[in-house]
Amino acid sequence: MGKKITSFYSKYKGVSDTAKKINRIWEKHIRKASKEIRRLYKSAPIKEERQEIIEDVHKQGYKVFDLHIHTYISDGNESPQSVVDYAIEIGLDGIAITDHNAIRGGKLAQQYIKEKGYGLLLFPAEEISSQNGHIVAYWAEFPEKKIKAGLSAVETCKKIHDMGGIAVAAHPFGPHGVSDPELLTTLFDALEINSRSTAGSDSLAKDFAEAQKIAYTGGSDAHLIQSIGCGCTITKHPVKRTSDLYELIINHKTDVLITPMWVEILTYLEELAEDYEEGLIQD
Ligand SMILES: [Zn+2]
Ligand SMILES: [Zn+2]
Repeated sequence: MGKKITSFYSKYKGVSDTAKKINRIWEKHIRKASKEIRRLYKSAPIKEERQEIIEDVHKQGYKVFDLHIHTYISDGNESPQSVVDYAIEIGLDGIAITDHNAIRGGKLAQQYIKEKGYGLLLFPAEEISSQNGHIVAYWAEFPEKKIKAGLSAVETCKKIHDMGGIAVAAHPFGPHGVSDPELLTTLFDALEINSRSTAGSDSLAKDFAEAQKIAYTGGSDAHLIQSIGCGCTITKHPVKRTSDLYELIINHKTDVLITPMWVEILTYLEELAEDYEEGLIQD
């Protein structure tokens, strides 16, 4: 390994340690305030704003895909069917249900889309917990075989590739994400820019991917319905089937559209405060 690369790695190692520390503090506060945040988030006019943003991006010729969504099959709040309905309502062109170590949510969503005759593209996927952090696998079709959780990142990525899929580092540098720069540069087809990431680990991931010329994807990591579409992969190229998008991702022909969830909450709080000051709302 060249000297330049080594110093680059050590620079990022330092940054990722700091990011992890900040993330831990932030997570502790978020967890404490999570009930209140959920309440605020539920009443925020996020759906309409999301529709407008996606409509605007469509007008510019982009297709919009949220490639990281959870359902109650793992630790999400919603059913696969309501995730599909919401995605269609806000105007997404495609979604991936990425439940932790489970593909059932994705399969149920696919079945529902078929039954209803919807045009929403469903990307067969799963978020696998490896020893080194979370990894999202995407396939053209749902695989027959299962990849065990708890393997090393090297083994997990090898299995994903052997099964014809692409391996994406979920929320790198964030909590539960792979943060070893060497693993990130050698194992993955793409790194994820995740809208749920806190304390700048999302922009750190983007800077890192760009500096290392690694492809990247966008995903919301939504566990609540309102977060769907906060993080998206976008492209102006045609996407007829799931494998088209994977090819575009690998060939750096996609971009991301990210609005971190906490930014939305803060904006909403700011608006509430303004309305309060102007006497539009009272105690
Ligand atoms: Zn994760
Ligand atoms: Zn996730």
